[in-house]
Amino acid sequence: MTTSRQLFSLQEFDLALDRIDIEKAEAETELGSGGGAVAVETALESEKQTLEEVRALHREQTTDAESQRQRSTDLDRQLYDGEVTDPQVLESLQQEANNVRNILQDRDTKLMELSLKAEESRNRCAELEARIAEINTAWETRSAQLNKIVKELAPQREEVRAKRGVLAKTLESVVVEKYEILRKAKKGTAVAKVERGLCQACRMSLPTQQHQKVKSGRETVHCSSCGRILCQGG
Ligand SMILES: [Zn+2]
Repeated sequence: MTTSRQLFSLQEFDLALDRIDIEKAEAETELGSGGGAVAVETALESEKQTLEEVRALHREQTTDAESQRQRSTDLDRQLYDGEVTDPQVLESLQQEANNVRNILQDRDTKLMELSLKAEESRNRCAELEARIAEINTAWETRSAQLNKIVKELAPQREEVRAKRGVLAKTLESVVVEKYEILRKAKKGTAVAKVERGLCQACRMSLPTQQHQKVKSGRETVHCSSCGRILCQGG
């Protein structure tokens, strides 16, 4: 006869196999994540693009400022070299010179702002690059650890599976099948220990007569509350 104690031992092996499978799946999921640098790399790409845009704008404004400066020099020369004497022409030249000077001032302010923006952007790029390097270094260590875990779990699993196989062979197959169905239905625990008269799975107190039956071990007793196979603890 297959005793509930034997089934409990079988369950210990099955729970160990479950734990190994969960640990392996978790390690593989983490390995698949690639270390999490992707989000930072995306941020870096976008920051690099921003920097490029700011630089292009800076180049454009520099060219424009140079031509305005040239224009300003030309106007000043016309105003002060004495060739133009007509007061009306001089006045309009003066007006234009003022306009150009204002534009130039505005360009210079913009150029300064763009330089500042470029500097900020360069700093952000450097920060992101440092962060990526940090993540990748940490990931090298972590992924090596995870690969080691996965590698070591395979022989561990094999060992537990072999032991389970040896035990299962000594048990009645009908009982093992019933146990397996119950284990599936009860989220991994088909056999519950009874300690101090309580089913350790659902904490229900067993009637004395039922507890006696469990203690004797002569028949399979199910918990009247959770339906699990009961096994005397201790
Ligand atoms: Zn129970």
